[in-house]
Amino acid sequence: MRVLILGGTAEARLLAERLAARGDLAVTLSLAGRTAAPAPQPVPVRIGGFGGVAGLARYLADESIDVLIDATHPYAAAISANAAAAARRTGVPRLVLCRPPWTATAGDRWTEVGDVGAAVRALGEAPRRVFVTLGRQELTPLLAAPQHHYLVRSVDPVDPPLALPHVDYVTGRGPFKEADDQALMQAHRVEVLIAKNSGAAATYGKIAAARGLGIEVILLRRPPTPPAPAVATVEEAMAWLDHALTSAAARGV
Ligand code: NAP
Repeated sequence: MRVLILGGTAEARLLAERLAARGDLAVTLSLAGRTAAPAPQPVPVRIGGFGGVAGLARYLADESIDVLIDATHPYAAAISANAAAAARRTGVPRLVLCRPPWTATAGDRWTEVGDVGAAVRALGEAPRRVFVTLGRQELTPLLAAPQHHYLVRSVDPVDPPLALPHVDYVTGRGPFKEADDQALMQAHRVEVLIAKNSGAAATYGKIAAARGLGIEVILLRRPPTPPAPAVATVEEAMAWLDHALTSAAARGV
């Protein structure tokens, strides 16, 4: 049985690791190719876009993929929509593996907004010190508010740097500890955080740190996901896959 995992997340890598240990599956992990040096993966990897719905559908057919698992980041809306359409077109069963969002607890000061532009507008006119933990390709809306002082954290360096008068950069790949994020935010006298609600334990440190410091968090709302069988954990994905494989075997596929 051939399984294609659309990845780019810790969950995709963990699922691939669990499936690699089994002898009954041929697993390929697909990455978009956004990071310069992706983390090592436990199964064969293909890198780069497929070329839209048609390209992904062709790949599924050419590679005789039996099951498609969309384990991409909750904000990777385009590839998830393509996966839904390509699966429909080819009849390949699809599972979405997506971590639930964080929910606010006592002490959290969250404002939810629809996109990065709205997050920047929510900062207001007066200059503020802002910690930004978005992808480096998503930073252009910051240019509309050059009065703020930004601290930008990304996996790879922001190159070219933003055309803004006050920006500090820090690179890093999670997991990030709450104590380290708290120290970073204090060192840069951060007053507000702009982040996505990724739901990952590895990036929750900044949310907890912001709560501890009484700092406001402007959170980007998650994009809607196309309807699909969906699970929240690698464990549940394994169970779904076993069920799908048993059904396929019963059908003589
Ligand atoms: P996106 O906007 O949903 O996708 C844009 C295009 O990138 C897709 O149409 C597809 O190109 C290609 N693509 C995306 N994921 C792919 C994958 N796993 N394998 C092959 N092609 C892929 O995606 P994005 O938000 O830029 O995210 C890109 C990748 O980074 C994803 O794999 C995601 O899991 C990971 N990631 C994203 C975020 C985030 O905040 N968005 C955070 C952490 C990790 P074609 O149409 O040519 O097939």
